[in-house]
Amino acid sequence: MFPFQFAGIPTRVVFGEGVLAEVPEELRRFGSKRAFVLSSAGQEDAALGLADRIGDRGCGVFAGAVMHTPTEVTAQALAAFRAAGADCILAIGGGSTVGLGKALALRTGADQLVIPTTYAGSEMTDILGETENGRKTTRRDPAIRPETVIYDVDLTLTLPPQLTVTSALNAIAHGIEALYAPDANPILSLMAGEAMRAFATALPWVTTDPQNREARAQMLYGAWLCSTALGYITMGLHHKLAHVLGGSFGTPHAETHAILIPHVAAFNAEAAAEALAPVASAFGSPGGGLWDFAKACGAPLRLADLGLTRNDIIRAAAIAAESPYANPRPATQAAILSILEAAWEGRRPAGRAAGATMTKDQP
Ligand code: NAD
Repeated sequence: MFPFQFAGIPTRVVFGEGVLAEVPEELRRFGSKRAFVLSSAGQEDAALGLADRIGDRGCGVFAGAVMHTPTEVTAQALAAFRAAGADCILAIGGGSTVGLGKALALRTGADQLVIPTTYAGSEMTDILGETENGRKTTRRDPAIRPETVIYDVDLTLTLPPQLTVTSALNAIAHGIEALYAPDANPILSLMAGEAMRAFATALPWVTTDPQNREARAQMLYGAWLCSTALGYITMGLHHKLAHVLGGSFGTPHAETHAILIPHVAAFNAEAAAEALAPVASAFGSPGGGLWDFAKACGAPLRLADLGLTRNDIIRAAAIAAESPYANPRPATQAAILSILEAAWEGRRPAGRAAGATMTKDQP
């Protein structure tokens, strides 16, 4: 047994179908009288519906959240928050909206009630990525972590098929990096391992039957588990590469994670076989098996399809190799380049398929 530290999970979680109805009660628990609702433009109707639902306890809606939390959008939202005399943040949406809520919480100290509608998993973490003058920086602070999260399965029924798959792989990537993190602990590993099982079972089901509540519930449960794990661990090579591609080349968040993760997991499988056993058990193997699963579920497979050129890949490998990061297997610039090349071309990484018998040369 390895030594570990675990600070506990401070965020209150309400999970179920129709639990959006609990919002007024959760606001009462905060002692909030003036909640300010956030969403992206695409989910403005959901935000207005929420404002209606809370009636007098609401004081305004800002439906302008966008990807990567640009500080100029935060400044607009902050001005509206202050003008409304708000005392609490009520964010409904994916990681972009959750990010804006965190940015406001950091600047105002207000409590956050977050209602995630994707599987991206920002809601349980103390991490905030912000973009200023085209540069994205990430920080961690306990003040960033939301106080309460409401997971309502019903809200995920409208997630489009492609975002369902890429967002699920985004969550799976968090779980995988949690399993081999230097600060992994047995509780988070149990959670991440259980999430692999939940996604492996439910995602194929949701791909054929998107309105299936039981399968959607399993996926949202997996997302909660992965988000929780992400909130306590040091991220490794996968996050480093996703950050470089998103930050320096503007690739879309969920798709980038979805394409990269089987390749990085295949690379790390050699050094972290024991830690990654739950991934092998769920998908056949962390590399090839996960890639087969992603392909069967209709995930994008090639970085080239995100508009990246071969020169971009070479430059990304150089940027990623510049600064150190935690990873179970040290990666040279050449090793990073070969991971990125395989992901750029959409090659199947090594690793046995689900249900295949293990052979000597197939990890
Ligand atoms: P997103 O929040 O940008 O949402 C993508 C699109 O899907 C938006 O147009 C949104 O309106 C729409 N959408 C969301 N839920 C929907 C639903 N249920 N039905 C229909 N449409 C819906 O994308 P994302 O992948 O959830 O989040 C990505 C962002 O989150 C990135 O900026 C990333 O850096 C951040 N993130 C942060 C952390 C963290 O811990 N800080 C973790 C994960 C992701």
